[in-house]
Amino acid sequence: MRILLTNDDGVSSLALTQLRRVLSPFGRVITIAPDRNQSATSHSLTLHRPLRIHTVGEDAYSVDGTPTDCVLVAFHGQLGEPPDLVVSGINHGPNMGEDVFYSGTVAAAIEAVLQGVPGIAASLVTRQPTDFTDSADIVGRLVRQVLERGLTRRMLLNINIPFLPPKKIKGVKVTRLGTRVYEDTLVRKVDPRGQDYFWIGGEDPVWRPDEGTDFHSVHAGHVSVTPLQLELTDHGARADLQEWGLTP
Ligand code: MN
Repeated sequence: MRILLTNDDGVSSLALTQLRRVLSPFGRVITIAPDRNQSATSHSLTLHRPLRIHTVGEDAYSVDGTPTDCVLVAFHGQLGEPPDLVVSGINHGPNMGEDVFYSGTVAAAIEAVLQGVPGIAASLVTRQPTDFTDSADIVGRLVRQVLERGLTRRMLLNINIPFLPPKKIKGVKVTRLGTRVYEDTLVRKVDPRGQDYFWIGGEDPVWRPDEGTDFHSVHAGHVSVTPLQLELTDHGARADLQEWGLTP
C-alpha cells in the first residue's frame, strides 16, 4: 500500500508529521506538499510555468504549486509508482459546507478520485495553534476502518474534526454538507501611496445549524464524515430544461 500525503497548508505544517506517524503502519507514506500555504486555491493547476520539486526528507517532497499539482506529480511524476490512496490534510481550519468548493485540501482528495484512487480530506475545526497529535490519531483510526472495509475507487470522504480534548469527542457522525451564511468579506483600505486596495476575508463564516450537516455534528462534538461524489449534474433541472425546448 502506497499512501500519498498532501495538504494545502504547506509542507511545513505539523499536521503532515503527525499524519505520517499514524499512516506509516498501513504502508509506505510519500509526502508531496506545496512549498507554501495554498489554502483556498481550490482545484487550480499550474500550467503557465514549470514546477520545481525539492526533496525535504525521506519520501518527502515540496512542490512550488498547488495541492492538485502535488497529486498530479505523484501520479505522473518521477517519484515511483502511483499511490493507492491519497490523504489530504489535516487542514488548519474547517472545510464544511460550501468550503469544499474553495478548499485546496478537499481538491487534492477530489483529484485522487479523478486519478482513480480513493481520497480522504481531513480538517481540524479551529484556527488556534495546535500540534495536530489528537486529530491525527482520529484520522489514523478512521483510515484503518476504511482500509478494513476496503477501498472503492470513487470513495471521497471529507472529515471535519472538532477541536476538543479526545475524551470530549462524542463519536463519529456520517453527515451531509451544510450551508454557509455569508458575511461581508471584502475589506477596502488605502495603501501608503493613496491607492485603494481590497482584501478578501472579514469574519470567520458561520453555518446554518441544520441537523444532519457537517457543521451541526462538529458543533455538537462529533467527528463529521461526509461522503462526497463528483456528479454535479442537476437531474431535476435537466428534466425541466428539456421541456423548455431550447433552440440554437
Ligand atoms: Mn488550508
